Amino acid sequence: MAEAQILDGKSLAAGIRASLAKRVARLKRERGITPGIAVLLVGDDPASQIYVRNKAKAAAEAGFLPREVKLPASASETEVLRTVEDFNNDDAIHGFLVQLPLPPQVDALRVIDAVDPAKDADGFHVFNAGLVASGRGGVVPATPLGCMALIRLARREMAGLEAVVIGRSNSVGKPTAQLLLRENCTVTIAHSRSKDLASIARRADILVAAVGKGELVRGEWIKPGATVIDVGINRIDLGGGKSKIVGDVAYDEAVKVAGAITPVPGGVGPMTIACLLQNTLMLCCSRLGIDLPGE
Ligand code: NAP
Repeated sequence: MAEAQILDGKSLAAGIRASLAKRVARLKRERGITPGIAVLLVGDDPASQIYVRNKAKAAAEAGFLPREVKLPASASETEVLRTVEDFNNDDAIHGFLVQLPLPPQVDALRVIDAVDPAKDADGFHVFNAGLVASGRGGVVPATPLGCMALIRLARREMAGLEAVVIGRSNSVGKPTAQLLLRENCTVTIAHSRSKDLASIARRADILVAAVGKGELVRGEWIKPGATVIDVGINRIDLGGGKSKIVGDVAYDEAVKVAGAITPVPGGVGPMTIACLLQNTLMLCCSRLGIDLPGE
């Protein structure tokens, strides 16, 4: 069996960010507009803090105007909703997101519902979810967009392929399944109540794992030659104060069987950030009523 192709999300994302930087510079030059992206972080979850920092850094590097608002973990739902409303009304902000998870006293659905769909960089608002599900445009969530770009590195043509998505979250599993369906794959969505996950997974020419359970998917679950996209980010405690990040797929086993596979880290994660910026530029252009500028 030939070595699996490593789907390098880091370098693909760097290429997208470089292209976005040129487009943003052109928008500035020709229209005098700098696309603004804002992130609301509530509380002090260490992983969320890292994600938000990485997003702001990537945004600034690509020429966007990043804005970060932090509220304490004790913030009330009213305070969170007020910040969302401020973002909705701020003409300098073209796209924004509320970093999840939110503290228990804040209803995440109510907050997502309050985001102006025209500024919904994450594509989590039900209006955008509906448009995406019915193939009528809308903002596609960044992680599924990134997954599709990675799959395309290995599969130019997806029509007729068996695709299995493990996980049915609104942010990752469901929209990824919809995008695979749009590519004419035969799509199965598996979840915590699915029976005999291993044999479902083994059918997949394209296997997407978005579960949040470290190394759940074993090498023997993978069809030889399959394209494997590992969305999971799981911190494993190694003892003695040490830990490491693993995906939902047992990489060392899977890499021996798969035709192509994403590493963790360095696969889907960097693509999520690049696609988030892409969504924000797209929202900025549609607000201005113009096409995406060329490089
Ligand atoms: P989520 O909302 O918790 O959804 C997890 C899904 O996995 C659910 O549909 C759940 O099924 C299913 N599941 C849980 N245990 C299972 C099992 N033993 N067998 C089969 N299915 C099982 O998580 P998410 O937001 O989709 O995120 C999934 C993972 O991706 C997490 O590790 C997250 O950190 C990571 N993530 C990474 C990125 C990135 O940029 N790389 C972005 C987003 C998320 P039920 O619906 O039946 O409960």
